[in-house]
Amino acid sequence: MKITANNPNRKSWLDVEKDSDFPIQNIPFGVFLTKDDITTIGTRIGNYAIDLAALQQLGYFEGIPLTYDIFMQDSLNDFIADGRTTWRLVRNRIADIFDKENSKLKKNKAEREVVIFNIDDIEMLLPVVIGDYTDFYSSKDHATNVGTMFRDPENALLPNWVHIPVGYHGRSSSIVVSGTKIRRPVGQTMPQGATQPVFGPCKLLDFEVEMGFITTDANKLGKAVPIEEARNHIFGMVLLNDWSARDIQKWEYVPLGPFLAKNFASTISAWIVTLDALEPFKVAGPEQDPQPLPYLQDFGLTSYDIVIQTSIKPKKEDETIISNTNFKNLYWSISQQLAHQTVNGCNVRSGDLYGSGTISGKEKTSYGSMLELTWKGTEPIKMSDGSERKFIHDGDTVIMRGYCKNEQVRIGFGECIGKVKKARKLDAE
Ligand code: MN
Repeated sequence: MKITANNPNRKSWLDVEKDSDFPIQNIPFGVFLTKDDITTIGTRIGNYAIDLAALQQLGYFEGIPLTYDIFMQDSLNDFIADGRTTWRLVRNRIADIFDKENSKLKKNKAEREVVIFNIDDIEMLLPVVIGDYTDFYSSKDHATNVGTMFRDPENALLPNWVHIPVGYHGRSSSIVVSGTKIRRPVGQTMPQGATQPVFGPCKLLDFEVEMGFITTDANKLGKAVPIEEARNHIFGMVLLNDWSARDIQKWEYVPLGPFLAKNFASTISAWIVTLDALEPFKVAGPEQDPQPLPYLQDFGLTSYDIVIQTSIKPKKEDETIISNTNFKNLYWSISQQLAHQTVNGCNVRSGDLYGSGTISGKEKTSYGSMLELTWKGTEPIKMSDGSERKFIHDGDTVIMRGYCKNEQVRIGFGECIGKVKKARKLDAE
């Protein structure tokens, strides 16, 4: 089926600013709360949130096989489970409803009032109930930087890294939507030179610049998802800040890997941008040498050209951009990640989230974590207010933004924001 929603010549009768992340060609999906306290599934064009449940009740989705309450829900899981044909039909229809050439809704004030909201008048919620969360480690530059800092510069990449999309199954309960405040974690650390661990607030709080993809029900338990089918089961992508407590991580991670250093919070952007919308921005991934095993061989345009910019905004000060990276820097593709995760029959469900791992590029300015940007805190970053950062301070807001752009269209993800609050009081307990 043709993705007519992607037509770059299409214009909307809704106002869209020139550099908006949300032109009519984007049509992402999210969940929001209206001023009247109604939770609904919606999309966004320019600075307008559009209530899809209201559109359906008014008959605008006639002819598309949808259950009557598919958009009257507090998560996208059921809609995502309907599969790619339905996502395409709905996106194409939304594009038609808001196309400049179609005045049906435009000229009906009463209908417009129940369908269209100003973005400032609604509150974005977590778009999916996330059953499972996997975090990969798919940036070669990131894995090399970390291996160089913590192990051996001569053998920075472990031998398995070029053969397996390395990852771990994380927790999903503390994945929060952009805008949710993040409490500085507490935990055990082993200070340099000490013989006994201490307990207290994390001193080396970090972010990880990642992107995540969200799946539909892809396979039954025991069946694999073949790599050439993997993309059919991926609904879309979000920005992901995988907050990390480096001092806690260093002490706890041997031998089983990340635990409390990672489980206090991860932040995702609120609008899921569909793989269909990203189709015009497909690019070749990096050359893979050695060639992966057959079940991991992925051909053609396997990656996406997505610019990702990260800044820190200190309390009451302007933000400073500290990292510019790109999704196309990732060594392992999303198809390879999903094929690998399912090759032994692990079942994937609607709403599951897969993190890319920290996305670092070759340049120092393209590193995706404070750990790398300040090289373990040895090279602090200067902020525009004159202060320095080795890691994240209380009161700092970390802001990630991402977008794709060609000569005709810009498709963006909006923002992925988290402000850090001070650690909870320990002596009060
Ligand atoms: Mn991570």
